[in-house]
Amino acid sequence: MEKREKRVILCLAHMSGNEIRYVNEAFETNWVVPLGPNVNAFEDELHAFVISKANSKTVDTNNYPQCINAHNNDPEALWKDSFEELHSKKIVALSSGTAAVHLALIALGVGYGDEVICQSFTFCASSNPVTYLGAKPVFVDSEKDTWNMDPDLLRTAIEDRIKVTGKKPKAIIAVYLYGMPAKIKNIMAVANEYDIPVIEDAAEGLGSRYYGQVCGTFGRFGVLSFNGNKMITTSGGGALICPNEEMRNLVMFYATQAREGYPYYQHEKIGYNYRLSNICAGIGRGQMTVLDEHIAWHKHLAQLYANEFSKIEGIDFHSNPSENIDSNYWLNTITLSPELHVSGQENVYKSTVKTAVGGAAGVIHFVDQPHTDCEPNANVEALRVYLDKLNIESRPLWKPMHKQPCYKDSKAYVNGVSEGLFKRGLCLPSGPLVTEDDALYITEAIKQAIR
Ligand SMILES: *Cc1c(COP(=O)(O)O)cnc(C)c1O
Repeated sequence: MEKREKRVILCLAHMSGNEIRYVNEAFETNWVVPLGPNVNAFEDELHAFVISKANSKTVDTNNYPQCINAHNNDPEALWKDSFEELHSKKIVALSSGTAAVHLALIALGVGYGDEVICQSFTFCASSNPVTYLGAKPVFVDSEKDTWNMDPDLLRTAIEDRIKVTGKKPKAIIAVYLYGMPAKIKNIMAVANEYDIPVIEDAAEGLGSRYYGQVCGTFGRFGVLSFNGNKMITTSGGGALICPNEEMRNLVMFYATQAREGYPYYQHEKIGYNYRLSNICAGIGRGQMTVLDEHIAWHKHLAQLYANEFSKIEGIDFHSNPSENIDSNYWLNTITLSPELHVSGQENVYKSTVKTAVGGAAGVIHFVDQPHTDCEPNANVEALRVYLDKLNIESRPLWKPMHKQPCYKDSKAYVNGVSEGLFKRGLCLPSGPLVTEDDALYITEAIKQAIR
């Protein structure tokens, strides 16, 4: 196959053209600070979005999880039930999704020595803020359907932590990996039983829905990210969905250096400089004008990929496991059967990452050799290299936190699911910059690689 002329990258948010208008407005009105009209409007727009009802299809409550089947067959009653809770939600725009996780933990009173349960299969930003606070992450593995936190294993972990430490974990961080909704109602049922608050890390899941309700609105707090590679971008930014006005004020207080109401600078608490800039919020407002369109495109590509991969033996496309689990397909992912032979797999793991650009795409720390005790299978790495030579970027799945050296001393409750997926999985180009033609080219290239 002929190499792709222009590199097809994994995922980048795409500008609508409206961003510059809001950014210019900020300059023209001299609002070049981490607060202002764009920040307020962006928060309002996000709020309207996250409480919105699914408009595509009616929600099938027949299969609604047992834990809340009181409203079976009556989606309207279901919505009325969550209406008040949803409408009391408040959004705080922040400088990153990581900051949002950090502030959610602070708002829940997490401190030195506390334990926080966190999904192991995730990006490090879900769990790192736990350690910023001197608290200890306890990792819980995933179930096979959604790749997210296994509610049964969550229960095992909670019970064991109570037995061992005599104390309940202080919070639970559930993640919507690659945009796929977790079985959040089942997770909430376990969490509620033990009265432990849930933080939903929906950094990758903006616009994903579970039984019609937007992910990030089920637990006490919901985390959003507007980094450059997420569903929408503010160049860098995030937001925290708070349960009410009171919590919003607490989060705002800590996000703005914890200043007390004196006419001079008086501090009783340690705060942070985490508010979103009015310039970045302008970009966010422009992005909000195309959010629905972009989600639709991510889903469209997923359908296309799913259709093509259904014809390829040995490769599974990760799709919604049931009708009411509605992923935004932030990244499209596949898993390769270990038996599948990929061209060049005898010669993989010869090179390390040498691009020093910081962030996820490059590294500052170079290594001598690429092997660790837990790495993607040779056929997965061979496929990544094969696609790379055709100018297509792909990436391994997140390596589970319980396999990361920086968390080697952390407790983990595992079932082998995330480790197995990490070894077999690959993320493929997704999002508004990827064309139908690109997706078909990619699946064709994969067919050739395994011939
Ligand atoms: C991107 C991401 C974050 C952090 O968001 P930033 O805005 O990059 O700080 C947190 N959790 C997950 C799962 C993510 O993918």
